[in-house]
Amino acid sequence: MNAGIKPVSAAGLSAIEVVDRQQRFGPNEIKVEAGASRYAVLMRQFTSPLVLMLVAAAGLAAWIGDIIDTVAILLVVLLNGILGFVQEWRAETAIFALRRMLSPVARVRRDGMEQIVPARDLVPGDAVLLEAGDRVPADIRLVYAMALRVDESVLTGESAPLDKSLAEGENRLLMGTSVAAGRAEGVITVTGAETEFGKIAGLTATAGGKITNLQRHLGVLARQMGIAALFLSALVAGLGIFVGRPVIEMVMTGLSLAVAIVPEGLPAVVTVTLALGASAMVRQKALVRRLQAVETLGAASVICTDKTGTLTENKMTATVVRTPDRRYTVTGTGYDPAGHVETEGQRIRAADDAALSALLNAAITCNNARLNRVGSGWEMIGEATEGALVTLAYKGWVPEPDRHRVVLELPFDSDRRRMSVILRDGSGHRLYAKGAPEAILSVSAMIRRGGHDQPMGSEDKAALHDLYEQMAAEGLRVIALATRDLADIPDTPEENLVFLGFVGMIDPPRPEVKAAIAGARAAGIRVIMITGDAPQTAAAIARDLGLAPELVLTGDAVAAMTDDDLAAALEREVLFARTAPGQKLRIVERLQAGGKVVAMTGDGVNDAPALKRADIGVAMGQRGTDVAKDAADLVLLDDNFATIVGAIREGRRQFDNVRKFVRYLLSSNAGEVIAILANILIGGPLVFLATQILWMNLVTDGITAVALGVEKSEAAQMRRPPRRRDEPIVGKAGLLTILAFGLYTGGASLWVFQHFMHQGVDIARTAAFTAMVVFEKTSVFAFRSLRSPCFRIGWFSNPALILAFLAMLGLQVLAVYWPPLQALLHTTPLGWDHWALIALIAAPILLGPELIKVLLPEGPAQPLEENHARP
Ligand code: ATP
Repeated sequence: MNAGIKPVSAAGLSAIEVVDRQQRFGPNEIKVEAGASRYAVLMRQFTSPLVLMLVAAAGLAAWIGDIIDTVAILLVVLLNGILGFVQEWRAETAIFALRRMLSPVARVRRDGMEQIVPARDLVPGDAVLLEAGDRVPADIRLVYAMALRVDESVLTGESAPLDKSLAEGENRLLMGTSVAAGRAEGVITVTGAETEFGKIAGLTATAGGKITNLQRHLGVLARQMGIAALFLSALVAGLGIFVGRPVIEMVMTGLSLAVAIVPEGLPAVVTVTLALGASAMVRQKALVRRLQAVETLGAASVICTDKTGTLTENKMTATVVRTPDRRYTVTGTGYDPAGHVETEGQRIRAADDAALSALLNAAITCNNARLNRVGSGWEMIGEATEGALVTLAYKGWVPEPDRHRVVLELPFDSDRRRMSVILRDGSGHRLYAKGAPEAILSVSAMIRRGGHDQPMGSEDKAALHDLYEQMAAEGLRVIALATRDLADIPDTPEENLVFLGFVGMIDPPRPEVKAAIAGARAAGIRVIMITGDAPQTAAAIARDLGLAPELVLTGDAVAAMTDDDLAAALEREVLFARTAPGQKLRIVERLQAGGKVVAMTGDGVNDAPALKRADIGVAMGQRGTDVAKDAADLVLLDDNFATIVGAIREGRRQFDNVRKFVRYLLSSNAGEVIAILANILIGGPLVFLATQILWMNLVTDGITAVALGVEKSEAAQMRRPPRRRDEPIVGKAGLLTILAFGLYTGGASLWVFQHFMHQGVDIARTAAFTAMVVFEKTSVFAFRSLRSPCFRIGWFSNPALILAFLAMLGLQVLAVYWPPLQALLHTTPLGWDHWALIALIAAPILLGPELIKVLLPEGPAQPLEENHARP
């Protein structure tokens, strides 16, 4: 342990100096490239195999002197590229905006007061305070270090944390590294681009986003369909040439058909949908750090959540104080010290009660929280538990301790569950400790009773345990306090302590959490509380929130269990209390081994491994350490459990929407392929020309599909169990739907073609082409919900879709009546009779699926809901 001495007069910079230095040195930030550049995104649109195929087709058309087709194809390429660019750029900027939202803060001392400021505003000379889990915000020279260990793996790749102290060679902290343990204070030497990290940041900034499973699956699907497309196009072209059609015409048809089949745009549409989903989530206070999380969230089947601050408000107020002799109650709420300590109906001050005075002294001295007066209210800086103790001490009127006398701190961590400080006291020293009752009682040998320190017998211990359990069973968070006089500082100072008493504090459940837990259970998602707090406290809060635990396991019990026992326990309604952070990892692994998709919350340094391992690591935006946030996939900006459930709803919506537009796009393509193939077999002129096929696929389909991507979430989405992790996007039912639509629209447009053939092939082809476009646009309504008919979700509830539908029909009208488009697409004007027939055949596409959805059962939603509705 490397003890240090706190700097004596470190008031920090003054506000004026700070402003002056900010002007001189600029903001403390490192410029990072905004993801892919605009230029790169644009180029990507014109270098895909699809576009190359089209350019080849255009080249072919030019070679045979068909200038109109050349222009048409190149226009389609251009239009398609611009549409793709606009969408992808939107996605890029959305993701970049999300990345910038997690702007870090730092604790500094300025004008003699501790404050939390944005890390961006730090200047050289600022006095920074750091503790476990903090990311070092600039390059710093240490002036104080207590048991400090720093993880420098970002810079050096070395994963074991290094000891740091005031010694030469060990006293520099570098920006971007993180505090693994201990506490420190230092002065900033350089900021921003001048830091070591800033100098190499250019190298790391281009790490880039990983692709998600969905993107990968769809990539594979697209590739498979590409191969199928090549095969089919070769078949069509070959057949055509075989029955005597002109070679060039058949090659062009084959190429356009290939373009029609390949769902090239799919991975991009998915990215856009996921990115927009992430933007929607952040509006609900869930910040997605990896796009993959949007998708995985929809499949989450278990949420492991901590209690303090996630299920509860983390606004602690001490309400009860117990010394071995007396019980005190405390009035007032929050961190406003306007309240009193009372006993037997009388207000009491520390000066009048030695036992109370000793306890409150320990509470405020062994403490790193501060209360600042801000306007007419109070602001608490530090941890909630410690803030509540400072507030309590103020209410009991103990004087502020002289912090300069503190010579050593044994910091709190979730494994030790206690903290001590040692200060100079006359010629010797005094230790104050606070922590979880077990953690303090286990190192206490004496008890202060009637003003005297007496040895603590086993009866005393048992009585104190009972007392503590009674307090905890009321849902109180109980902290024990102890002290000890020391001549010198021994190696293990935390032993033979004198027990002073307990403080019980309330931390009310967040009001929205009960409903969120019920919502999660209705959606087939289990909620498991894993807390560092006491079993009785945890169980009382759990019951308040409707969790009804059958089994409460402490960390010690879990440590004694085999993996199989733990797996069996996890099948039941279980609650974990007094858990050490390391055990979270084991719980995640057991759940995953049982096939669960696990979301796990965490806030401390030691939670990072579990957050990384979980399918969705969830860090707290306000309470969480920088290290936990870095390890997480999702950051809750409001630390609220309800936000996780909201994000899961959003994740399910996004996945469903991806599924909807994939099925929609494929069924449109199927119709075209069936019409073209059947027509070749029948013989006779081509049903669609190459440019028409391109028009249908690249200009009109894409936009309608994107509109499907913004379908609202359906109520039924959260009444169904989570999807299996490996559930296919298309699946058997999807394949059937695609085939059914393909057969109908393909068959019908071919029939239209034949039906009007006696009016001339140009009219017939224009009618068939228009019919196909109308059918495809109409069928989009069937894909708006995978289960509910439109009249139930509301015909007009997706304005983007209505707009896209009308705009695309309008475009088709232009294609038929506007001379320039007529020329490009080889169309002739249609009459009312053509439109009427097309409308008539389109009607069943609108109404048929509605009828089928009404007749088909809604799936497993009901039984599940009933299961969980019962208490
Ligand atoms: P959760 O795991 O749900 O966030 P928690 O805050 O109780 O709950 P920890 O932070 O691991 O979990 O704390 C464990 C226990 O340590 C607490 O129940 C409390 O008794 C004690 N404790 C918490 N904060 C401090 C502190 N600053 N100093 C001393 N003891 C503390």
